[in-house]
Amino acid sequence: AAKIINGKLVAEQIREEVRVEVARMKDAIGVVPGLAVILVGSRRDSQTYVRNKKNACEAVGVKSYEVNLPEDCSEDEVIKHIETFNSDPSVHGILVQLPLPSHMNDENILNAVSIEKDVDGFHPLNIGRLAMQGRDPFFVPCTPKGCMELLHRYGVEIKGKRAVVIGRSNIVGMPAALLLQKANATVSIVHSKTKNPEEITRQADIVIAAVGVANLVRGSWIKPGAAIIDVGINTVDDPARPRGYRLVGDVCYEEASKVAGAITPVPGGVGPMTIAMLLSNTLESAKRIHKFE
Ligand code: NAD
Repeated sequence: AAKIINGKLVAEQIREEVRVEVARMKDAIGVVPGLAVILVGSRRDSQTYVRNKKNACEAVGVKSYEVNLPEDCSEDEVIKHIETFNSDPSVHGILVQLPLPSHMNDENILNAVSIEKDVDGFHPLNIGRLAMQGRDPFFVPCTPKGCMELLHRYGVEIKGKRAVVIGRSNIVGMPAALLLQKANATVSIVHSKTKNPEEITRQADIVIAAVGVANLVRGSWIKPGAAIIDVGINTVDDPARPRGYRLVGDVCYEEASKVAGAITPVPGGVGPMTIAMLLSNTLESAKRIHKFE
């Protein structure tokens, strides 16, 4: 049976590492890393994500700043707040919670964030640098960075291996493929128009699945011994559960864990890594801005 890649545990370790470093920096130079979060509108899920990020900051000693803007505010108003944070020396990371209301242009907003404070790594220049050989972005998007961190911490070799990323979204699939390529894997991307996804995926030593379709990837898609990182978070009805549903990934865990060499569970795999990476990016930013080693 596959080794379980315990993202919950790794995320706790990373949070603890961040907490220790935050305290060390505060002691040495009196600087506390600060993260600013801008939320537009009142989507329940976005409110929950923002609250979780705030709580996570508090737990490791990172200061958080929050701005809530109404759904019908203008793009200029959002950009004005971003610019205030750009020039605020106590803020080292700025993130705009997505999705934005449909009357706004994501690119205009993301472009306004200083690339040196873009802890989500969504600024087009940071994405562009991620795609270029010999260049490095200031920040890498948190979820794909978390996937790579899991591979590294579980000793999965990447160099020269074949990797398949299923999904090509701007926030997960595309940057995950770029990161694997930067780490010298040979990368294929499987998406909604791909023919023979099963055959292509079966060639992979490493699979990152970020689709949003419950149990899409079956045991037969997987090369024996492969490492499987399942980013998907999907709900399926389950009357036996108190809430009437349970969470599953994009990978059929029961089948895949019999074939794979290592696999992330859902929940408890990639999920907890995202916020841990956000904290780590914020710390990294404060260190870079204050030239603290
Ligand atoms: P998205 O909807 O933006 O993108 C999905 C991608 O999957 C698209 O590129 C599409 O081409 C591809 N796709 C759709 N159907 C497919 C199919 N049948 N076969 C192959 N590819 C197909 O989704 P996203 O934002 O990238 O998120 C993907 C999943 O990851 C979701 O379940 C989401 O909830 C989860 N997610 C988890 C975290 C986390 O763990 N912290 C963060 C972000 C997203």
